[in-house]
Amino acid sequence: MPVTRIAGVGPKLAEKLMRLRIRTIQDVLFHLPLRYQDRTREVPIGDLLPGMEVVCTGTVESTEVLFRRRRSMVCTISDGTGSIRLRFFHFNNQQREKLSEGTRIRCFGEVRRGPSSMEMVHPEFQSVRASDAALVAETLTPIYPVTEGLHQLSMRKITSAALEYLDKSTLPELLPSSTDLFQQLGEISISLREALLIVHRPPPEISVDALLEGFHPAVQRLALEELVAHRLSVQRVRQQARQLKAPEIVRPADAANDMRDQLIAALPFALTGAQQRVIDEIAADMATAEPMLRLIQGDVGSGKTMVAAAAAAMVVGAGYQVAIMAPTEILAEQHLLSFTNCFEPLGLKIGWLKGKLGARQRRDSIESIALGQTHIAVGTHALFQHDVEFHKLGLTIVDEQHRFGVHQRLSLREKGVGDGLVPHQLTMTATPIPRTLAMTAYADLDCSVIDELPPGRQQISTVAIPDNRREEVIDRVAAAIADGRQVYWVCTLIEESEVLQARAAEGTMLELTERMPDVAISLVHGRMNSLEKEQAMMKFKDNQTQLLVATTVIEVGVDVPNASLIIIENAERLGLSQLHQLRGRVGRGSVQSSCVLIYENGLSQRARDRIGIMRETNDGFAIAEKDLELRGAGELLGTRQTGAMNFRIADIMRDKKLLTRAKTISEQIQRQQPDFIAPLVKRWMGDEAPEYGNV
Ligand code: ADP
Ligand code: MG
Repeated sequence: MPVTRIAGVGPKLAEKLMRLRIRTIQDVLFHLPLRYQDRTREVPIGDLLPGMEVVCTGTVESTEVLFRRRRSMVCTISDGTGSIRLRFFHFNNQQREKLSEGTRIRCFGEVRRGPSSMEMVHPEFQSVRASDAALVAETLTPIYPVTEGLHQLSMRKITSAALEYLDKSTLPELLPSSTDLFQQLGEISISLREALLIVHRPPPEISVDALLEGFHPAVQRLALEELVAHRLSVQRVRQQARQLKAPEIVRPADAANDMRDQLIAALPFALTGAQQRVIDEIAADMATAEPMLRLIQGDVGSGKTMVAAAAAAMVVGAGYQVAIMAPTEILAEQHLLSFTNCFEPLGLKIGWLKGKLGARQRRDSIESIALGQTHIAVGTHALFQHDVEFHKLGLTIVDEQHRFGVHQRLSLREKGVGDGLVPHQLTMTATPIPRTLAMTAYADLDCSVIDELPPGRQQISTVAIPDNRREEVIDRVAAAIADGRQVYWVCTLIEESEVLQARAAEGTMLELTERMPDVAISLVHGRMNSLEKEQAMMKFKDNQTQLLVATTVIEVGVDVPNASLIIIENAERLGLSQLHQLRGRVGRGSVQSSCVLIYENGLSQRARDRIGIMRETNDGFAIAEKDLELRGAGELLGTRQTGAMNFRIADIMRDKKLLTRAKTISEQIQRQQPDFIAPLVKRWMGDEAPEYGNV
């Protein structure tokens, strides 16, 4: 039911509510208060202390309009235990009359220490007759998150109206309430209606802290239902995918023609056990007609690219095309290079598509992909575009998948192979995701983990050095370069602005050029065009320059085995997973490598702890787990933009304990009450629910 069903909610108000993701009456009910006010009891004026937000009642002793720096109206009330001043900067005659001497008024506001006595500035007030002295609120008063032009009072009226609808029982119970399972929920086996009443209009004796921190059973009950709905929605996508068919990729009978074997035979190294295992898992998935939906998690440097290449070889060998996509141009270019090196000797054609491509080159690329002349198309988001049509797309590979939204992930599947077939899908991420989180965020994917690094990798030693010892760091850079090694210097800023980031990098570049005039330095930042970036990167890769000054654009994937030292400025401002990614730029060859984290003096304990973790471990999974604890899931998955994990009430970290329950309950619903799935998903995710083939 749309919010406009509520009396007083017209199109204008509805528009404001939309900004809060509120479209329906249900949405109103899931819009929880930020905090609560206690208007349930009156406090004697003599007991008031600054900072209290209270109701008090008193008789007006005097009201006067003062003309000091600002015109104001000051009214003094007292109740026999003490007196307080009410101060108004905006007022009219009517208000002034209401506060005439001798009137009893009840007011609500925050107590402050005024120039001569306690004050309330712009309190809410009403006159009361002595007889209704007991009249105060029955429940705590909710304060909601609002938006410009939407007042607390209207929000409260809207929620009251929504709660009345709830009383008329328009919100069916969708969790399996009658079953044993629900009983097992113990203290949180509260009905939806009851839970909503508690959070919106809590009784005075409730623990407000528990409510606000989300540990109260009522909030837990709501979070659980939301987690169940989320899980069901991703699994529904998964099931929709199962109804479709993908090409069966089988090994050729003639072993001599097996492209995967040819690729692997040409490598200068042997695959690790983990790489081999994951390649086998992929082969088994793709051998059936059910579309593969697999996520590969592998720490930086674990060799994901080779696994992707092996998967591509199987698919091309079976006569289908492959699309491989990365979130940034630099990364995509690197894949282009690796795939060209791997596959051109085998006689394959690699296509290239990115956002800014000359019209001619773009047309040629698209045509070659459409005609099936291109075997493997490498690119950025540009591969998603509507005019890109594949001749026979059998597999899409998405690198650093957490940077793409669920929706984009799905839309790539749409670029099917025709004949009603959809491509298999492989996604790769270098941000290892803790199991708990993966279970929820990627419930629609099977997961493989490359949990072994290629042999001979050295541990990267990490040190933290304060900014006032910068000279020492520069000496260290010079020494590494004199030793024939290469060095990264990463400049970071909190500002998201690319202009400022670029300026910081340019400044550092100048400083380092002055200090080391003989060293050839490259600069890479987000304000350079892709050709400039590529040229700078290439020079560094070819060891024409020995020092690369960069912003965090080099974060992922860049591969220069001769680089043995990385300096990261303002390390305290980056997340742990991001630091780990950056640090993974070194230690890719057989040289002993190190990472220097430069931090500003006067670190908080928290920042010190974080840097401590970086020094102690090189294990991406352990780091991700810590990162999740410290920063929350949205940051870690980089999904703030995509909304993939944008829960209304649930919070993955806080509600960790509910995740297994949510899994069990959703499985039970799938088995016993499948007709509840659609309404549950609609209730919690509305139009944002992912749908296969409808993105
Ligand atoms: P990531 O998982 O971070 O994407 P890459 O695929 O870029 O890692 O591999 C990192 C480096 O390790 C590359 O230089 C790659 O050639 C090399 N590599 C990959 N697999 C192996 C292996 N089994 N043995 C030795 N080196 C390998
Ligand atoms: Mg990679």
